[in-house]
Amino acid sequence: ARGRVVYGEREGRLGRPLGPAERENAVPIMVDNSTAGYLVPATLLANVAFTVPEQAFLDQIRSTFALSALVAGSISVVVGLLISRMLAAPLARLAAAARAIAARDWTQRVKVGGADEIADVSRAFNDMADSLARGETQRRNLMADVAHELRTPLTVVQGNLRALLDGVYPLETREIATLYDQTRLLSRLVDDLRELALAESGQMPLNPQSIDAGRVAHAVAATYAAAADAQQIQLHVDAPTAVPMVRADADRLAQVLQNLVTNALRHTPPGGSITVALDMPAEQPDRWVRIQVIDTGEGIDPQDLPHVFERFYRGDRSRARSSGGTGLGLSIARTLVEAMGGQIGANSVPGQGSTFWFTLPKTTEPS
Ligand code: ADP
Repeated sequence: ARGRVVYGEREGRLGRPLGPAERENAVPIMVDNSTAGYLVPATLLANVAFTVPEQAFLDQIRSTFALSALVAGSISVVVGLLISRMLAAPLARLAAAARAIAARDWTQRVKVGGADEIADVSRAFNDMADSLARGETQRRNLMADVAHELRTPLTVVQGNLRALLDGVYPLETREIATLYDQTRLLSRLVDDLRELALAESGQMPLNPQSIDAGRVAHAVAATYAAAADAQQIQLHVDAPTAVPMVRADADRLAQVLQNLVTNALRHTPPGGSITVALDMPAEQPDRWVRIQVIDTGEGIDPQDLPHVFERFYRGDRSRARSSGGTGLGLSIARTLVEAMGGQIGANSVPGQGSTFWFTLPKTTEPS
């Protein structure tokens, strides 16, 4: 009557109180008009009550769950720590290498490995370090080259002046002319260096317009007509009218052509020919116009060819210098062409001639 189980199929319930739902569904056992107890259908009891083994099983499951949660939690903490260390270690190495580079240690590189993203960053870092190291080497070489190039004519001038002063050389026009030539070379060198420095630092004012490259080629050829004649070299322009207008700075384009034609004249023997030809390149003819300076001169050694656009590179050092070359003409040409959005290159067959070509973007404005 007080709601405690006194008899049942399930031992586990003996002595335990009935739940509210059980009591609601219980059938009262009336003895002399008073409730002597309750009868609870076994089906109802079965839902809430467990036998001892069931309860033990439940407890075991509960503790297993708790244990697995604990183990899984600890494993994830450990794995998390490991992953973060795996990520952090290469990042720390990158940071150390970046600091070393900032302190001008150009040899620093990082090991490429680990997760894809980290490997990507490491590769990018190494590329950057390579490019910085190259830049630094170039800067050092340039300083050394400039000093060397300036020293040579200066030494000649100084030596000759000393000889004149000491009376070793007679004070003759011929001697003075040699000195004058050296000073001209010096000033050309200084001009070229200035030009190159401006172009490379992107400070050279460019005025790109829609221009007819053929007309510029004819104008440049006209200024060299007399020089070519004097050397018995045929100089002509092959500029079909179908070649579209280009977007370029007319003065800079003329300068590039002058450098290439000067070189061609310098390296082509009498009886040879120089052609300035305009056409559309086989690749992307709708985007570019190609301008070639083709000579039938001595050509360029395959060993020299990849280097001719480098600063101060001369195929034949002593000969090129005596003919007035500064070794900067092609570097300037390349910088100018690239500043105008084009590309430049050279092909050559030694003994048969050289072809210097460059491209300029076709103008997009309607002509
Ligand atoms: P340089 O003032 O000596 O001409 P450049 O930069 O103009 O300097 O040219 C670099 C070198 O490339 C030259 O010294 C020469 O050896 C080679 N070169 C350039 N143009 C020609 C050419 N048309 N034929 C043969 N060699 C050439």
